[in-house]
Amino acid sequence: MAQYSGPDHILQQRQQHFYPCTSHFYQTPPQIVKGEMQYLYDHENRRYTDFFAGVSVVACGHCNPDIVRRTEEQLRTLQHTCTIYLTQPNADLAQRMAEVLPGTLKRTFFVNSGSEANEGALLLARLHTGKRGFIALEQGLHGRTYLTMSVTGLRMWRTDPQLEADGDVTFIPRPYERGMSGEEAAQRSLAALRKVLEEKGGEIAAMIAEPIQGNAGIIVPPAGYFAEVKALLAQHDVLFIADEIQTGFGRTGEMFAIEHYGVQPDIVTMAKALGNGVPVAAFATTDEIAASFNRPSASTFGGNPVSAVTALAVLDYIESHRLVQRSKQLGGILQEGLRSLAARYPQAITEVRGAGLMIGAELCGEDPPHGAALVDDVLEQMKDRGFIIGKNGVDRNVLAFQPPLVITEEDIAGMLTALEETLRSFI
Ligand code: PMP
Repeated sequence: MAQYSGPDHILQQRQQHFYPCTSHFYQTPPQIVKGEMQYLYDHENRRYTDFFAGVSVVACGHCNPDIVRRTEEQLRTLQHTCTIYLTQPNADLAQRMAEVLPGTLKRTFFVNSGSEANEGALLLARLHTGKRGFIALEQGLHGRTYLTMSVTGLRMWRTDPQLEADGDVTFIPRPYERGMSGEEAAQRSLAALRKVLEEKGGEIAAMIAEPIQGNAGIIVPPAGYFAEVKALLAQHDVLFIADEIQTGFGRTGEMFAIEHYGVQPDIVTMAKALGNGVPVAAFATTDEIAASFNRPSASTFGGNPVSAVTALAVLDYIESHRLVQRSKQLGGILQEGLRSLAARYPQAITEVRGAGLMIGAELCGEDPPHGAALVDDVLEQMKDRGFIIGKNGVDRNVLAFQPPLVITEEDIAGMLTALEETLRSFI
């Protein structure tokens, strides 16, 4: 086995050379050295079952051999040109995207990260409408670049108080509020949207939203919400951008989460699972809207042969292994198991929500600081028991379950048993 310097040395290196804002989970974090499908291994060869998938990235499993083989072959054959030269992989990928995306979204622009995809989508909306303003949901998260951070409602993520004004952004409440029914919260959000559109719809280019909010605690809007949003926006010639960066490619039990709502967005942004760990991202739109990007534009790495072949291999794997259906089926089993735990430990788990294999369990809902501390304790102990779980939420009190879609029923059963034992040790 290779020699590794160990977590203490890595923590030291990070402390000295990373930006201080770079955080990590766990009081005693392991050094992860290897991944095999739904499993991760540390420097002492301890195995962990991964229930977070690097925040929804490795949907097809870590180092999936079918995908790695094709990526390797491409690396040895042709690594890079640029979209200005003709190559097969990105043309095939663009065609394939048109087949998997909903409705008339037939044109795809390839980039390298989620932030870059959203940045492109926001720019495209301004170009197409000739308007500058944006609407976004409170608590949403859309990226780390200047404009994507300015449409990000999640306070802990925003660095500069000027962002909102610079980006010309108006936030409206999200269709969720603790203590309110989903329908009431949706109506409050729609009323705010109506008001903004009536007051300044003539200045708004687009609304951007995650179909299911990820980092904000896995929030699933009521069934009719996005259809009403889309109809209202259309009345004012405002485009709808669905940020599918965390939810896309089977994560929620549909290929794209917006399909749960039967709505076709004007622009869809994608990243994370599309590359299964290799950087590749995209924003897709209709013929008409794509035509508004009316200057020559290329991306150095966007759609490079290696990323494009990987993404094609990912789409093949999702299809041939029926991962969308699997996400729905296993997500149902995991959600049921968590609900049963919530029924037995109501003082700890106050709410379980999600779709497919994107599920959140909120701890101590009425008491966020206590919930956040409990989440940290649970995460630490679950790691020591061999399970990697995520956390998110406005108050950081939500356990996040977003495993590789190749997870098995046995993995889920083992995790639920460990979680029950862990909860019992704290309450
Ligand atoms: N949108 C959503 C919904 C995300 O979850 C993220 C990443 N957490 C981003 C955008 C930004 O993606 P990236 O980190 O690849 O820039």
